[in-house]
Amino acid sequence: MFDEIFYSECMKCGIRIDQNRSFCDNCFNDFFPVDKRCDRCGYPLRVDAVFCNNCITTRYYDRLFIPYWYNGNMKIVLKSIKFRYNLKNAAVLDYLVKKRLFKFDRYDIITAVPSYFFRRFRRFFHPAEYVAKKLSEIFNIKYEYLLERKKDTEYQWKLKRKNRVENIKNAFSPRKELFDLKILLVDDIMTTGATIQECSRMLKDAGASKVDCYVLSKGLFR
Ligand SMILES: [Zn+2]
Ligand SMILES: [Zn+2]
Repeated sequence: MFDEIFYSECMKCGIRIDQNRSFCDNCFNDFFPVDKRCDRCGYPLRVDAVFCNNCITTRYYDRLFIPYWYNGNMKIVLKSIKFRYNLKNAAVLDYLVKKRLFKFDRYDIITAVPSYFFRRFRRFFHPAEYVAKKLSEIFNIKYEYLLERKKDTEYQWKLKRKNRVENIKNAFSPRKELFDLKILLVDDIMTTGATIQECSRMLKDAGASKVDCYVLSKGLFR
């Protein structure tokens, strides 16, 4: 009975570990780093290719930085934070961000994609905002809340691909003019990229001269 106070369980295999940890030593390495990218924009690729589809059609962001695939432990960690409010796992996010840092440009503002839940339930922890603030701290760049979610969109992963673009269209609006500013937009998971595209489009409409995106993980469903 007292054990529960001093120990917790590895979220993957269930063995007993220190209470301030999330995974045991064996399971800790089950993260999947992105190692192939589009040369032009940084879009994660699973096969060797020079350009991604977005670079052939349209993209509103300038460059993407995506360190991990949404797989293995990343799924476990993000789900536990989002849906079970397991804040202990925020420490894992710190570790993951610091382990694979990118050489960024000098941005004027770091901002996050607003959460679907955030508007309704303020108590929900929002990983995108958490990661954005972490990057703002590491690189000493101002964090600012720039985009507002105008409508409650359906979760992107619930929708068929063709409906995703429609669902997200005009879902965001910028909160101020961003004349000539360089922005780093942050999110925690990318599905098709429709959200990032729409947010980047909004930021550019508001005057941003550059919008790069940092997304902690990219879904494999596609
Ligand atoms: Zn384990
Ligand atoms: Zn590309």
